[in-house]
Amino acid sequence: MSLIGTDIQRASEELDRGNLVGIPTETVYGLAGNALDPKVVAKIFSIKNRPTFDPLIVHIPSFRYLNSIVTEVPVMAEQLASHFWPGPLTLVLPRKDVVPDLITSGLTTVAVRVPGHPLALKLLNKLDYPLACPSANPFGYVSPTTAEHVRQQLGGDLPYILNGGPCKIGIESTIIGFESQQPVIYRPGGISLEAIKEQIGEVSIKPRASGVVAPGMSNSHYAPRKTLILGNIPELLEEYGPKKVGVLSLKEHFNQIEDRYQIQLSPKGDLTEAARNLFSSLRKLDAMPITHIFAELVPNHGLGWAINDRFQRAAS
Ligand code: AMP
Ligand code: MG
Repeated sequence: MSLIGTDIQRASEELDRGNLVGIPTETVYGLAGNALDPKVVAKIFSIKNRPTFDPLIVHIPSFRYLNSIVTEVPVMAEQLASHFWPGPLTLVLPRKDVVPDLITSGLTTVAVRVPGHPLALKLLNKLDYPLACPSANPFGYVSPTTAEHVRQQLGGDLPYILNGGPCKIGIESTIIGFESQQPVIYRPGGISLEAIKEQIGEVSIKPRASGVVAPGMSNSHYAPRKTLILGNIPELLEEYGPKKVGVLSLKEHFNQIEDRYQIQLSPKGDLTEAARNLFSSLRKLDAMPITHIFAELVPNHGLGWAINDRFQRAAS
């Protein structure tokens, strides 16, 4: 079982040896390894059971570092980075040859970000290489937002997990790329659409893959083991009855259901707080003696957009 602690020296030694380490970021906990070593990157895919057509995000210590892994930084990318880094924004940019093919699933672009967590930044600043760092969970399952979540699932495979407390954002980064110089959002996440538009104006949004899976666009994801059904909760309760179901709502309480089988993401209806609680709530519901989870979409503004994206994929 892995050790959980706050020893950055220990984490960097493990990484230098070619091992993987669980690390905190402000979005979710990551499964980190040397991004420039294809053998290490292969281990990440294998431990996560992640298909190699799903490319990884490379984590770097600063904007300045970007030039060592990408060939070109569009003006808009620079604008976004200077405003949101360190933070939950990933930029997809043309890659340099030092980036292993496995990281990008053979694409000519690489996804990169500077994480906004003090321990992750300290660690990155200590290393001579960037970190490949997908979420530290088996592929397709709910992402971890505490060090203990990482240990529960990947503990046997990791010598060390760096503990940075519960994740402040709790949902993955927003991913933006550029197609014919125009910005395109590939995944909603911890930076809202409104905040991005405020910086760069209109931006198009790539729809989630339907059926065919292109690199990085897998549809079913972030899913608990219990069957998640999205809809109007009172109607669902009426239709299915309250037996063996758990309920995940934004702020509403339901008298039809025992208290212990319902979770409110944010009793005051704050979507930022709701995002922070989303994955840990799904894990709690997954551990309950229930067969189904009923959930409802939240208002689609602010971080509500990313929450709804995760709900839809978790239910798909
Ligand atoms: P995760 O590490 O689970 O947060 O997932 C990283 C996601 O980043 C992938 O599933 C893709 O959606 C996206 N991604 C990574 N690299 C690229 C790329 N070169 N082009 C487009 N999307 C990418
Ligand atoms: Mg993930």
